[in-house]
Amino acid sequence: METIRIEKEQWLVRVIFDLPGEKINKLSSTVMAELEQVVMTIANDSSCEVVSFESAKKNIFIAGADIEELRGITSQTVAQDKAQFGQALFSRIADLPQTTVAIINGACVGGGCELALACDFRLASDNPKTKIGLPEVKLGIIPGWGGTQRLPRLIGLPEALKIILPGKTVSAGKAKKIKLVDQVIAMALLKEQQQNFLEKLRDSSFRASLKDKRKVRGKIARLMRFLQETPPGRGLVIMQARKQIEQKSQGFYPAPLAVLDILATRCSFSEGIERELQAFSKLAVSDVARNLIALFFINEQLKKQRGGDFSGVISAPKCAAVLGAGTMGGGIAWLMSKHGLAVRMKDISWDALASGYAQAGEYFAQLKKRRRIRQGQIDRAMNRIGASVDYHGFANLDLLVEAVVENMEIKKQVLAEAEIYLPETALLCSNTSALSITEMASALQRPENFCGMHFFNPVNRMPLVEIVRGQRSSEETLARAVAMVKGWGKTPVVVQDSPGFLVNRILLPYMNEAVYLLEEGADIEAVDKAIRAFGLPMGPFELADQVGIDVGYKVAKILQQGFGERMATCPLLSTVYDDLQLLGKKGGAGFYKYNGKKMRVNPAIAELSGHSVKKKYSAEEIIDRLLIMMVNEAARCLQEGVVASAAELDFAMIMGSGFPPWRGGLCRWADAQGLPALVKKCEAFNGVIEDRYQLSPYLLELASSGRGFYASH
Ligand code: NAD
Repeated sequence: METIRIEKEQWLVRVIFDLPGEKINKLSSTVMAELEQVVMTIANDSSCEVVSFESAKKNIFIAGADIEELRGITSQTVAQDKAQFGQALFSRIADLPQTTVAIINGACVGGGCELALACDFRLASDNPKTKIGLPEVKLGIIPGWGGTQRLPRLIGLPEALKIILPGKTVSAGKAKKIKLVDQVIAMALLKEQQQNFLEKLRDSSFRASLKDKRKVRGKIARLMRFLQETPPGRGLVIMQARKQIEQKSQGFYPAPLAVLDILATRCSFSEGIERELQAFSKLAVSDVARNLIALFFINEQLKKQRGGDFSGVISAPKCAAVLGAGTMGGGIAWLMSKHGLAVRMKDISWDALASGYAQAGEYFAQLKKRRRIRQGQIDRAMNRIGASVDYHGFANLDLLVEAVVENMEIKKQVLAEAEIYLPETALLCSNTSALSITEMASALQRPENFCGMHFFNPVNRMPLVEIVRGQRSSEETLARAVAMVKGWGKTPVVVQDSPGFLVNRILLPYMNEAVYLLEEGADIEAVDKAIRAFGLPMGPFELADQVGIDVGYKVAKILQQGFGERMATCPLLSTVYDDLQLLGKKGGAGFYKYNGKKMRVNPAIAELSGHSVKKKYSAEEIIDRLLIMMVNEAARCLQEGVVASAAELDFAMIMGSGFPPWRGGLCRWADAQGLPALVKKCEAFNGVIEDRYQLSPYLLELASSGRGFYASH
């Protein structure tokens, strides 16, 4: 056996997982075949009383099925065979004559959790890395080895749905509370307590007492559990969960809905397993699963980017400064202090500093509301943020991030000023949305230490950070920026310096086109609705209001300057900003008017776009017009090497703009439509040759050669 080691000690058999050459254990077909052998042998071992499933890896029990294998499944029959094998094997474990226990010290997810669920008992360590759950829906599939049946039977339907539907994992403490594990042991005494527990398992009264503890306590709780088991009670639980799922994901993700279908009515275990099998096999070959699995791999690949040749010399920063304490500066200071850095915010006025400080406090308050942080931690983190209107203390900094107003001259000035006070080794970054990093670097004495570090708004929610390579940024600077951003739990994507970099450059033609549609007589709400139905979190007009029309307009002008007529700002947008001076949500009115949580189309805009005859566009027309603009710009970015691959581009659009993950990204969506069809549609737009509809030579080449973005990357 390659992965599974058996250690026999009289009455005890330890089944130890240790996948060679890997940091984690995965349940590939080979490992499952080994496990089958092991289970067959143990089943006939009459001297064995207790079987304990363990891991030799640090911080990992079993990380789940082998996703590489899952990616290779192309037919429903193969999916069914694989799931059936796993189901049967785990049922054999559940039926073993011995007492079985999973010893969980570290991640126990997906197939690993299903294996643990097939055991009679579960023992977990209080290791902070111990996470137990079923995250399958995040890959567009469902637990397929009995998990949908065993978990609700163990912890009750409502608690099980809280784990399976969002694909959540829980800590050891929480797992104990919901009775997913029978006992939690201290990590420091793992070996001793584990041995003690195993010995006690030989005693039937101890086993009975553990099972007794799983019973629901208290009159009300018992009544609730009873009611949930009745057909109307169960129906209610399922209905509420379905409502939440539909509200949250608008039915775009079929996997959680499939789980609800499986669990909608009570049935025998074997009937439940059959339902699970059918649903799993269908989902495993669905487009959504294929897209989400592809995303998983690109995420893994990006996570692995280390510091390249510099990984040995990169040390974690301790002291940082943020220039400009606005929306972004406050957010960046929050992120850094949350990760233990001492941060100094520098602005030109104490009022601005106070609002930056308030911004950081607000993000901490949101975390506290979600019970992710305690007040003591917040107090310590807020104490790490200092404020000043001069460069006092800059001589000790490891890192400086500039986030002042989007103006090249001001940015050059503050960066040059600050550089004088910084140590020579400090990393300098700009959070500019669209301005040239190369030009900014021209104001610096050490341009090699400078690059773009473009966070997205709101900093506490958006995972993407574009690391922008200026012409003179050194490789070490980029590697340091990548490593730092990763250390703060964000996902960096390295892009070339180009107006708007990657995400804003692709988003802008889309937003601009939406305003052109409006000018032609389209209805604001209809456009936003069509885009939401496509799967983006909000439509282009809602987005413009959210970001701030002033911010968007500035970026639009920078792109127009950089790319000329094809990026010309729609005249209607200039009117909205210059003449009406609308700012969007922060000013109470933009394309919509805001009154508390209520919003309605701004009548001033409706009058502006004032066509007596409104033009009706179908959702398909709206999507074509807006999305093709993005695809065309994406092709230009790839051709110019702004980003390394279509996969990274797709990932960045998902993480930075909310492009629907289940569609796999912009390029993947375009490939699925067929590039020749998209090109044809673009050529037909309006029937007029407009600069903005000029097709990228690269897109034309891909379309005419019959390749897609992916086939060619
Ligand atoms: P903001 O207007 O909220 O804040 C800018 C801050 O800079 C203000 O507090 C201002 O007082 C300060 N400032 C101006 N001149 C200064 C100087 N000489 N020295 C120090 N501080 C000075 O702006 P914001 O939205 O936080 O944006 C800041 C930067 O981040 C811009 O470059 C913007 O393009 C970029 N950005 C913004 C967003 C967004 O959605 N808001 C997203 C990503 C990047």
